[in-house]
Amino acid sequence: MTAHIRHSGRVIARREITPHMVRVTIGDIRIGDEAPTLGIRADEFFAISVPVPSGEPVHRYYTARAWRAEAGELDIDLMLHGEGPATEWAARAAIGDQVAFDQPRGHYAPPEDATWIALSGDATALPAIGRILEERTARAAPPIHVVISVEDPADRQELPLRAGDTLRWVDADQLVPETLALTETTLPGYLWFAGEASDMRRVRHHLRRELTWPTHRWMTMGYWRRDRERWLARYEAAGEAFHRRLADVYSSDEDDETQTDRAEELYAQQGLL
Ligand SMILES: Cc1cc2nc3c(=O)[nH]c(=O)nc-3n(C[C@H](O)[C@H](O)[C@H](O)COP(=O)(O)OP(=O)(O)OC[C@H]3O[C@@H](n4cnc5c(N)ncnc54)[C@H](O)[C@@H]3O)c2cc1C
Repeated sequence: MTAHIRHSGRVIARREITPHMVRVTIGDIRIGDEAPTLGIRADEFFAISVPVPSGEPVHRYYTARAWRAEAGELDIDLMLHGEGPATEWAARAAIGDQVAFDQPRGHYAPPEDATWIALSGDATALPAIGRILEERTARAAPPIHVVISVEDPADRQELPLRAGDTLRWVDADQLVPETLALTETTLPGYLWFAGEASDMRRVRHHLRRELTWPTHRWMTMGYWRRDRERWLARYEAAGEAFHRRLADVYSSDEDDETQTDRAEELYAQQGLL
């Protein structure tokens, strides 16, 4: 994903909503060459330029947890996971901090004929899951089954469920199996998953290779990568031929999931999975 930072704003509020989740509200939003089109997809996200105390800002991806168009205010929920420019900024963010972000985009799009919806992921998926649940239309909507893993039970949040919905807080090692269990039905549905890259790959593999579900019935996203630094060092050292073949895949006119399949083959050959 490439970030084209266009919009800017400043922090107008910060509060800890659970021990490891900080809500930062951005106001005074100034719009670059294009108005931010928020409110299209409930899982929409953007790259935000995170201030770094001694150096250039870095880009990290965050979900628009809430967008109050009338007030021109945006909430983002950042997980405190330890070390990293974004988590460290979340821990110290102060009123007045300047931030910039790019055009939001999202993927959540259950098909009209879905008789059930599953939302699954780890703590980083909680902002999107919370917003998807909140923004459900009033019309008869299919039941939503939610599976989430958070390390500390104190990070569980109240979620706006309706009759027929289900919610399971699970341990990290149960996230993938519990997600796959939701697919054991012949009724048409829709599954949305976001979380650590290797968990995402296991879910995606099951849906695409084993169940061979059509792509409009699921969406899987890797939101973060364990041992990112080590992986990045190996990715950067992978050699020109690898990077050229990867660029060819992403500039091809194949659909997104086919591109992902081909990219994964290249990563696997390179020992980068
Ligand atoms: C589309 C999208 C939407 C996202 N939305 C949100 C959101 O709303 N809220 C949110 O909190 N996150 C969200 N994320 C995840 C967030 O972008 C990553 O966790 C990001 O890596 C955090 O950056 P950092 O600077 O704190 O750490 P980095 O510099 O990226 O990483 C530093 C170290 O921390 C590890 N690490 C990174 N993230 C985590 C984590 N979550 N848990 C444990 N270890 C981690 C890395 O492996 C690395 O070793 C989203 C990601 C994407 C792609």
